[in-house]
Order: sequence, then structure tokens, then C-alpha cells
Amino acid sequence: MDDSIADCLVIGAGIAGLTAAHQLQKSGFRVVVTERSDYVGGRLRTVHLKEGAVEVGGAFISDFYAATLDLLTQVELEKSLFTRPQTAFVLRNRQSMPSWPAGELVRSPLLTVGQKIRLLGLLVPLARHWRALDIAQLGLRAQALATPADVLVGKWAGRAAGECFFGPLLQGLLYWRLPETSAHVMLAILKAFLRGKATYRLRNGMAELPARLALEADVRVGWDVRGIERNKSGQYDVQAMDSTGASRALHARSVVVATRAGAAMSLTESIAPWAVAFLQSVEYSRSTTFTFRTAPGETCPLPGPLLFPSSTLPGVSSINPLVSDDGQPTRIFGISINADYRRPAGAGLDALAMNVLRVVCLSLGSPWWLTSAKPVHVQDWPEALPKFDSGYLARLHDFRTAMASADTPVAFAGDYLDAPYIDGAVRSATKAADLVRSRLAGDADA
Ligand SMILES: Cc1cc2nc3c(=O)[nH]c(=O)nc-3n(C[C@H](O)[C@H](O)[C@H](O)COP(=O)(O)OP(=O)(O)OC[C@H]3O[C@@H](n4cnc5c(N)ncnc54)[C@H](O)[C@@H]3O)c2cc1C
Repeated sequence: MDDSIADCLVIGAGIAGLTAAHQLQKSGFRVVVTERSDYVGGRLRTVHLKEGAVEVGGAFISDFYAATLDLLTQVELEKSLFTRPQTAFVLRNRQSMPSWPAGELVRSPLLTVGQKIRLLGLLVPLARHWRALDIAQLGLRAQALATPADVLVGKWAGRAAGECFFGPLLQGLLYWRLPETSAHVMLAILKAFLRGKATYRLRNGMAELPARLALEADVRVGWDVRGIERNKSGQYDVQAMDSTGASRALHARSVVVATRAGAAMSLTESIAPWAVAFLQSVEYSRSTTFTFRTAPGETCPLPGPLLFPSSTLPGVSSINPLVSDDGQPTRIFGISINADYRRPAGAGLDALAMNVLRVVCLSLGSPWWLTSAKPVHVQDWPEALPKFDSGYLARLHDFRTAMASADTPVAFAGDYLDAPYIDGAVRSATKAADLVRSRLAGDADA
């Protein structure tokens, strides 16, 4: 494409940026996507080992991800979906105990009979706010429940439910701590999973979705956008540096910033102070995922993800059998840690992998399959998931309202603008594409 002028420049080739590009291209606009790193997909990242595709970022989608399922159909990937078991276990008293699905929890010794009865107390706020707990519209209105999740769980379900059930699930799935999580978001996710029937993966890995979208787009990989400025004619001058260190200039009639919030803020000076304040307020949880292979002849015997109460193993989110989700033995497994893990000073990622392996080994009684395993990949995500704390939905609601009515110079997309997972990123991209489309149509009318 001629670099002189694009209808839209999308900054960031994560799933949000590529979805926005896909939708604008479908409407006939000329779009250029720039991506800072040397691969597309951002936090959707698959590593291919001889045993198969291993997810080191976004790992699965759920049947309530309507926008993502629609996107997969549009790019003809829906036949590559396969169902992944929804089981999860929690380590308690040195034993692995079922915690999900709900039917397994009822039979599990994870909670005592009294604690299970106490857990049912949560049905009260769940029923009271049932209609408002809409996973697909989290930021649409200010939340019904403006309390932190630990307060709600403590009041209605008791401390044990927080410690052994909600805490490990939030930490294992989102690297979030209970006190820093919005009760509204937690209940909306719980409702979605209670009603959901299946979670899926893509046969060749989740990164196949961004890769497929990138095939049809003009993506400049290795281009780090350093700044965007609106010029006198109302268009955008964009400065980037490519992977050789050479400066690049692009010009576009509109821009979608599809990076994480911090990077978005640093890109342009032409955003209003209220937008800066919101972007500054976005915080992310941290996750480092270590992939290991067992010694020859050994396999990982875990039947599903094993999660940890924060008091049992501080900072360890989960240990997961990987590659084989069909119950067959696998030699590949992953251990994820979060910001609470006490990282030995000065330890590099390889040393950290061995330190984490040792710590988890001890807590599981040092089984040989674990003790003899070797690290094969380390993936650090300093910004893994945006934190949706108890004030977040109100701030997001204000930001989105202001954005809709302002003559904003740029549109934003990313999971932090909708919901903290793949479908939130996809939905935010649809909204950004709609905004750009109407702005470009307005320009054409003028
Ligand atoms: C460990 C982990 C596990 C997860 N598990 C799941 C899961 O099982 N299910 C689920 O639904 N979600 C999961 N998620 C969340 C999901 O991966 C994200 O919500 C989603 O991928 C976010 O997409 P995004 O496009 O908003 O952001 P990103 O994927 O972060 O994309 C932003 C892109 O912008 C690029 N960029 C930044 N600055 C610039 C610049 N200046 N110039 C050019 N490019 C730039 C970045 O390199 C990046 O590629 C997980 C996330 C992590 C980290």
C-alpha cells in the first residue's frame, strides 16, 4: 500500500487491533496496522513444541464469548475449535480437591458441609442483581455492586469460601487478588460460568486467530509507534521506528490505539485530560508462565489445573497439564506465578523457573515427575490482565460516556475497555471500529 495516507492506522496487532482492522477493511477502508514486537497476537501467544501447541498467553474461550465466536466464523476457524474440560482443583491439606464445575464442588471435601451451606448465601446477592450482572455489558452502566469481592464473599459466603474457592479461582484465571476485585465483576463472571456449558481451544493454538486476521491485513511488524500528532488538515502524522532502527512516517485520516493503557497514554498529546486520567488509572496484574517437560518415561498425572489458596503457596497461581486436554498423559505442564511470588533478588528467568519448580515440588511432596522436570519456555507478562477493582466499572463507564460525546482525536481498543479477556478485547474493537467509521463518514459528508 502507498504509505502516503491510510483511512485508518491501527496501533498494536493484538486481537483488539486486528479485529478493528478486519472490521474496517470489511467496510472498504484502507487500513495499516503497526506492531511493536516481532510477532502478531500480543497476549494471544502459542508456542509450538514437538508435543503440540502450548498456550503461554490467552488459553481458552468460553461459550459466552459471542463476539469472538462470531469472529472465528467470519475467518472460517470455527471448525478448528475443540471442547476443553472445565475442571479445576485446589490444593488443601496437601491434597488436590475438585473445585469446579459446581457439581464437583458439592461432592468435594474442599469445603466442609457447613462451609458449603454458607457458600449458598451468595445466592442472595446473585439473585438480587441477576439482571444487572451482564458479562457482555460490564462497562455499560455503573455497577450494581460497588464493593470489593472479599467484602461481599466474607459477608454472604464466609472466609473459607474466599480462601479456598473464590481466591484461588481469581488468582488462577486472572492473576487477581480478591480484595482488589470488583464484587460485581466477580459475580458476573460466576453467573456466566454457571450458565455456560463449554470452553474451547483452537486446535493449532489460540494464536491462529490473530495470525488468520493478519493474513488479510497490511501489518507492519517490528514498527514501534513513537508518537501521533494531528496536523492542520485534521489528519494524523505518525512517527514509528522499524526493527532496523530506521524512522518511518505514516499518515492517516483516523487512528485506533489498540495497545495496553500505559502505552496508549504515551502515544499522543492530543487526548483530553479526562482520558489521560482514566488511562493512568488502569493497573494490570502480573503473570510469569513457565513451561516444563517431564523426564523421559514420566508424565504429569494432574487431571486438570491445580490452583492454590494464597496462604498455602503465596504467589503461585496454578500448575496445569498442557497440550493434551483429553485426559491423555502429557509430558508438558505449566506453572504460573503472579506479583505476590517472592522472586529471589537478581535471579534471571531461568533461575526463577528452577526456584518456582522447587517451591511447588515441596508443596506437592516432591513427586519424581515434578522433581525431574526441565524448563522449556518462560513467558513473562508484566502486564497480564487489567485489574477490575471495585471502582473500575464506574471509571470505565465515565470514560466511555465522555468518549462517545467528545470530538476525540483517536479511538481506543483493548481488553481494559470492556472485559478482561479475549471477548472484551474483541468487543472493544467493534466499538472503536464503529466510532472510526462514523467519524470517516462525517468527514466525507463535510
Ligand atoms: C497469561 C495469560 C493468560 C490468559 N488467559 C486467557 C484465557 O484463557 N482466556 C481469555 O479469554 N483471555 C485470557 N487472557 C487475556 C487475553 O489474552 C487478553 O485479554 C487479550 O489477548 C488482550 O488483547 P489486546 O489486543 O487488548 O491486547 P494485547 O494482546 O496486549 O495487544 C496489544 C499490542 O499492542 C502492541 N503495542 C504496544 N505498544 C505499541 C506501539 N507503541 N507501537 C506498536 N505496537 C504496540 C503490543 O506489542 C501488543 O501486541 C490471558 C492473558 C494472559 C497474559
